[in-house]
Amino acid sequence: MRIQMVDLQGQYHKIKPELDAAITEVLETTAFINGPAVDLFAQELASYNKAGHVIPCANGTDALQLAMMALDLKPGDEVIVPTFTYVATAEVIALLGLTPVFVDVYPDTFMLSVEEAEKAITSKTKVIVPVHLYGQCANMEAIMELADRYNLYVIEDTAQAIGAEYTFNDGTLKKAGTIGHIGTTSFFPSKNLGCYGDGGAIFTQEEDLAKKLKMIANHGQKVKYYHDIVGVNSRLDTLQAAILRIKLKHLDTYSTNRNKSAAFYDRELGTVEEVIIPTRANNTTHVFHQYTLKCVGFDREELKAFLHSKGIPTMVYYPVPLHQQKAYSHYTQAADGYPVSEQLCRQVLSLPIHTEQSEEELLFITDSIKEFVQKTVLS
Ligand SMILES: *Cc1c(COP(=O)(O)O)cnc(C)c1O
Repeated sequence: MRIQMVDLQGQYHKIKPELDAAITEVLETTAFINGPAVDLFAQELASYNKAGHVIPCANGTDALQLAMMALDLKPGDEVIVPTFTYVATAEVIALLGLTPVFVDVYPDTFMLSVEEAEKAITSKTKVIVPVHLYGQCANMEAIMELADRYNLYVIEDTAQAIGAEYTFNDGTLKKAGTIGHIGTTSFFPSKNLGCYGDGGAIFTQEEDLAKKLKMIANHGQKVKYYHDIVGVNSRLDTLQAAILRIKLKHLDTYSTNRNKSAAFYDRELGTVEEVIIPTRANNTTHVFHQYTLKCVGFDREELKAFLHSKGIPTMVYYPVPLHQQKAYSHYTQAADGYPVSEQLCRQVLSLPIHTEQSEEELLFITDSIKEFVQKTVLS
């Protein structure tokens, strides 16, 4: 049994004829840049997500950068981000001369703490970036309410949660990425909707923002060679769009499969006191980009090494919070520090989860974790 964090090969082989035909079609027509598949994919994703507008771009980091560029921010403006996230979220803020303001997260759901975010708001704050970490939505009802109260923009980083659905208290349902002013996502191969290279997209409900985002992604031009604003070159290429059109049709099945794996892990590990299974946040479905345990009462690195010795890979997302990274530690830090994120960085361990897992494989993983706890912790 070869256990992997993700099984892109197995997933490809299940839908190989469809994918190969789509790829061949692009090769035959040689419309590699801005071919018809790009617009078609954008329309199909907009319809799947019930997003007004989808602007494809080169990757999820660019999507965040384009989003920040579209909001007319000035150097020194502050952008609130969780400190427990992937670096891309803060990177683009720093690159644009804006100031990232790091905020702690909730210990159970790993999401941006709305209370800490409110404490971090100053007269320079312009944007809040909730990250839908591991596959479920941040507390968007409270975040949108906070943003409204302080007149802030919200950019949702949906790189890990495409397809997740959020329910507001009045019953309104919205897909992750379509709630804030702008949503961004990534089609990196291992993401829930992954292409075979780099890719990304931006969602917005607002027509003016959509037009501006399209221009920024295309050298700031509406008409070729007439540049109204400073832009960048950030495109989703036609091959990737053709692949994504096929994979989008399977996205809900992929989410279902990931949930089946998660339910198996929950059942087997829910009774093991030394590991804490993921908490389901309120009002949101979970698409389990990651299945992340908290290791309590023992050293996470020991479990990681034990599983590795049995051929079971695991990952630590993330070992160091952003406020402690060399490149970001000079930004002003919260007066109360970041006790939750710092502890999570020591405790979290993500198990293999993907769309092609067998019960046999899952059982081997959970049995191995139980064996470790018996041997190492309880003896
Ligand atoms: C993957 C990821 C990104 C960046 O996406 P790329 O396509 O790799 O640039 C941004 N934010 C989060 C939370 C991610 O997981």
